Amino acid sequence: MKLVELGKLKPPRPRPSLEELLPLVSTILQRGVVPEALIVEDDRVSPESARLYYALEMLGPRLAPASSQREHAQIPLEDLDFYWELNQGQARVFRSSLELLYRNWPTPLVRLESLSRGGRTAWGKLEAYNPYSWSIKDRVAWSLVQGYIKEHGKPPSSVYEATSTNTGLALAALGAIHGFRVRAYIPGPVRRESMVLLRLLGAEVVWTDKPITVDSLDEVKREAKAHGAVCLDQFNNDYNFIVHLRYTAKEIDYQARSAGLELRGVYAGMGTSGHVSALSLYFRNRRGIEVVGVQPAPGERIPGIRRVETGMKWVRHAPPSRVVDVTLEEAVEMVERVARTDGILLGLSSGAVAAAFEKSGPGEGDYVLVMPDNALKYTSIIERLLGE
Ligand code: PLP
Repeated sequence: MKLVELGKLKPPRPRPSLEELLPLVSTILQRGVVPEALIVEDDRVSPESARLYYALEMLGPRLAPASSQREHAQIPLEDLDFYWELNQGQARVFRSSLELLYRNWPTPLVRLESLSRGGRTAWGKLEAYNPYSWSIKDRVAWSLVQGYIKEHGKPPSSVYEATSTNTGLALAALGAIHGFRVRAYIPGPVRRESMVLLRLLGAEVVWTDKPITVDSLDEVKREAKAHGAVCLDQFNNDYNFIVHLRYTAKEIDYQARSAGLELRGVYAGMGTSGHVSALSLYFRNRRGIEVVGVQPAPGERIPGIRRVETGMKWVRHAPPSRVVDVTLEEAVEMVERVARTDGILLGLSSGAVAAAFEKSGPGEGDYVLVMPDNALKYTSIIERLLGE
């Protein structure tokens, strides 16, 4: 049996569904080994190995075991160069603004003094260190566009997307890079900060007073179809979930191992559920630790996150261990506390994640708090609620 570069193999078609892949992905993560070789002939992966190929593609080791016939194996993920995609940009020279995104990972993991006490330590995963929308949504937009290019051989010519702003900004940046037009449908009251930035990137903005629901999403899809545009649909497109499994989750694992952390739990907000579910699948299987979801309390509005019962795709496959409710006021209190202790300007959903961590008072050990973005898009809301 030999080890070959996964990226050089020709994949079998069709791609199995997420439902077919997740049990195998979970088993590989739980055992930490790849159970058999891919059956490969002339770089072409046999349809018999489709499930294993796509499960490995979701996890992203550099190498894969390959053989001309079925062969059992127990190859540790580490022997397949599991973490190879991290830290490739160490000299911090990037040959394009696209590389500035994916070669700049991992985003920083920072010990937060303001939230660490009594034997528990909070580590903020600062997603504002992504270049386009200064948010976790750069990963998603990139993955949706890469997925589209993989399947159609070229970028779309025009994209319509419902977004709470960040995905719109990231798509608008990618539209500038690849040369496609973007129309962003944004729910809720107009936030000038976001509108100016979207327009600066050349996007068209449609503000809607309706929250994002299945019906409003259908309307966006209908309009896209009528105008010959594509709706990449971050709410249902599995490339959203996959990018967090292959990168966000793996990065946290790699960073926690490198720093020798005693990781006890991960906290994450829920919007599309892309990142919370991927983290849940990864960490519950690979490390046996809990992932806590964070949602707005009933009747509260916190940009970027929403309540589970409004409907989210991936929580059905990989739910968080539990969900904590947070008010906007609690979130802003935390944004203020972290700013005035650690000097870091968190966004509102990040404040909500910090508040959920404080409220749930977990035991001793290290905890990772995924901070989706920073304060700069929410200054008008924060100004209203800021304490004296
Ligand atoms: N926080 C912010 C600021 C966001 O923009 C989003 C998503 O739009 C989230 C949290 C939720 O992330 P996800 O869609 O992965 O559930």
